[in-house]
Amino acid sequence: MTVFTCGSCGTAVTSDVTQVPFPERAPEHDGEGEAPPRLAPGTFARDPDPFGPPFVPAADNPRVLVSAGPVGAILVHPGDVRELRLHPDRRRLNGCCRLDGCDGPNLVCAACGAEVATEQSDCWVSGHDIRLEPAAVAGSGPMTGA
Ligand SMILES: [Zn+2]
Repeated sequence: MTVFTCGSCGTAVTSDVTQVPFPERAPEHDGEGEAPPRLAPGTFARDPDPFGPPFVPAADNPRVLVSAGPVGAILVHPGDVRELRLHPDRRRLNGCCRLDGCDGPNLVCAACGAEVATEQSDCWVSGHDIRLEPAAVAGSGPMTGA
């Protein structure tokens, strides 16, 4: 079991969560309203792929932009985060009807303001996910993966 804390001030930013394999497939979503979470409550997974900005042209299709952001972001269920609030910079809060998470971390530590997580919850994304920045949090328990 692992509790993630803010790397700057030590505030717990998740409840006690257990690592699971990263889900290969996003949940089914018809594009209407909020996408369902990718993970079950009480679990977390290390994202094996880069996440977030910068975005660069894909090697096999230069017309498609892909993330060249950090590898190993910590995916958590939206119900398991604690003590986070929206980023004060509105430019981080873009989205069609909620948050698209494409502009860098959009959630900060409520105690100290450090950028610790990115929420993706917009109508067009494939899952309602929150990813903790791998460099901005510390985990209390055992963890494997990228
Ligand atoms: Zn903090």
